[in-house]
Amino acid sequence: MPVYQAPLNDIRFVLNDVLNAETLSTLPGYEETASPELTDQILEEGAKMCQEVLFPINMSGDEEGCKIENGVVTTPKGFKEAYDLFAESGWCGVACDPQYGGMGLPQTVNFVMQELICSANMSFGMYPGLSAGAYDAIYLHGTQEQKDMYLPKMVEGVWSGTMNLTEPHCGTDLGLIKTKAEPVEGEDGAFALTGQKIYISAGEHDLTENIVHLVLARLPDAPEGVKGISLFVVPKFLPKQEGDDWVPGARNQVTCASIEHKMGIKASATCVMVFEGAKGWLVGEPHKGLKAMFTMMNAARLGVAMQGLGIAEVAYQNGLAYAKDRLQMRALDGVKAPDKPADPIIVHPDVRRMLLTGKAFTEGARALALWTGMALDTAEKSGDHEKAEEAEDLVALMTPILKAYFTDMGFDVASLAMQVHGGAGYIWEYGVEQYARDARIAMIYEGTNGIQALDLVGRKMGQNFGRNLRRFFHPVSQFIEEHQANENMAEFVFPLAKAFAKLQQSTAMVAQRGLKDPVEAGAASSDYLRQFALVAMAYIWARMAHKAMEKLEAGEGDKAFYESKLHTARFFMTRMLPEADARFKMVMAGASPLMDMPAEGF
Ligand SMILES: Cc1cc2nc3c(=O)[nH]c(=O)nc-3n(C[C@H](O)[C@H](O)[C@H](O)COP(=O)(O)OP(=O)(O)OC[C@H]3O[C@@H](n4cnc5c(N)ncnc54)[C@H](O)[C@@H]3O)c2cc1C
Repeated sequence: MPVYQAPLNDIRFVLNDVLNAETLSTLPGYEETASPELTDQILEEGAKMCQEVLFPINMSGDEEGCKIENGVVTTPKGFKEAYDLFAESGWCGVACDPQYGGMGLPQTVNFVMQELICSANMSFGMYPGLSAGAYDAIYLHGTQEQKDMYLPKMVEGVWSGTMNLTEPHCGTDLGLIKTKAEPVEGEDGAFALTGQKIYISAGEHDLTENIVHLVLARLPDAPEGVKGISLFVVPKFLPKQEGDDWVPGARNQVTCASIEHKMGIKASATCVMVFEGAKGWLVGEPHKGLKAMFTMMNAARLGVAMQGLGIAEVAYQNGLAYAKDRLQMRALDGVKAPDKPADPIIVHPDVRRMLLTGKAFTEGARALALWTGMALDTAEKSGDHEKAEEAEDLVALMTPILKAYFTDMGFDVASLAMQVHGGAGYIWEYGVEQYARDARIAMIYEGTNGIQALDLVGRKMGQNFGRNLRRFFHPVSQFIEEHQANENMAEFVFPLAKAFAKLQQSTAMVAQRGLKDPVEAGAASSDYLRQFALVAMAYIWARMAHKAMEKLEAGEGDKAFYESKLHTARFFMTRMLPEADARFKMVMAGASPLMDMPAEGF
């Protein structure tokens, strides 16, 4: 059976030592909620919930999956009880506005919770995850009446949310959406929605008393393409006021026709939704639905990035446990466990390569994610316009990078954990093959990773006249400058500086060639994103190495922990960062190796 322990010590190191997350309490609104003591308490409680409630139903949820009968979807055994406990404990509203009953905690803490939830049970995490996206859409774009009607219920967790974008003929190209929204005569402000949506996560289930669908559709006078799409809120049961409270009223004409049989996240219901004149109300302005949806999709993309990290962490932990236990062959440099018939496989260099890849990825990715989380908090809460803008630019830039790199690596690390297990890795009861199956979808939904790469080169790079890029380049240059004379740091700063110089070169190339020919930008995009991600990881690893060194020099804290950090930082710089060089060469090769071949040549 698989194991999972929330990596709280590592989270504490990142928050308290590397990123000084207590500075979040200087932001308006976080004075009370961002103290290290409170954060620690919350995370301890969150870890318990994930380890003791969500993790034990992860494999059974995978085995049983969701079921549908006459349009009624049931989640696997134990999910409803776990969800009720989760919601009652307030976890549906971690970063939500206290005005609507939320905990009002920083997004940084929310990021940590998302990682822990996805490690414990990614399928379960889909339900509150989708609700959080729908909450954001209404919170940012809804009317006050819509906010009062829906948000307290969603924060309480008794109503959940969905995002209805995809249709049978379009997922990436949402400009092709066909679902119609027509004004209902005599009902002020109501529309009747007709159409079909597919692959809708949490579209129907038995966890909550109501489901709040956020749906993209076209108004009758809508212009063609993406400029003619509007966003609607379509509740499963029409809310009815009872005193101060809103309760589920009449059933709306939105139903689940079927659920998908799929590779992973089997306990997450993936639904075909049919709208047959379902009543809905506009959220935000007419024809501006895609823009509204995008504000929430950015948050959702970071949430999906955390799925990649969460799965990688739990897969790594299980690979490690197995490698310490499984006895096979002797170490190349002599027997290590003479009292046993063979040595544990952790002695073998190739097994260590796989484990260290998982360790270096998860620890680096966690730090990078929380660095971005702190920027998100600054962007949202800082009263200082300049600081908020700077932070917002950084988040905009990092979002596609984190989404694509973390989810690619989530799958890779899960696959490596399977490999560490040998044949057992392929067998269901050991639990690791589920991680690979669950992780795979994160590379596809919320905009495929190819689309993230296009977002990076086509939008984020050039946005604000290149200001976004400077928000990343500046702290990296500054760090290199500050530490380049420190001999002890040379093994981290030099590789970072070299990789950073190459990133600047490829950035200039992508910008120049891409301006002349968008095919060049498209051809470079995925390799460029990967190169960028590796340099960002090198930057954060160098920062962590510096902090670990400081702690060791001061004789503070857990020596073994900091020494392990330095070993892992060395592994990253020498065995993972060199990939950035190969990606650089691929970027520089330009579009012709991809585009010269006619389609018939394939
Ligand atoms: C389990 C699951 C859960 C999901 N949950 C939801 C949900 O809750 N709500 C929702 O609305 N949708 C959901 N989806 C749908 C998901 O977001 C889409 O499947 C995804 O966005 C891709 O769209 P598509 O399937 O139409 O692929 P397509 O758009 O057909 O893409 C096919 C391939 O072409 C590539 N491609 C397309 N256009 C370009 C381009 N311009 N340049 C380069 N490459 C391109 C893509 O990257 C991809 O590799 C879910 C899907 C699954 C499987």
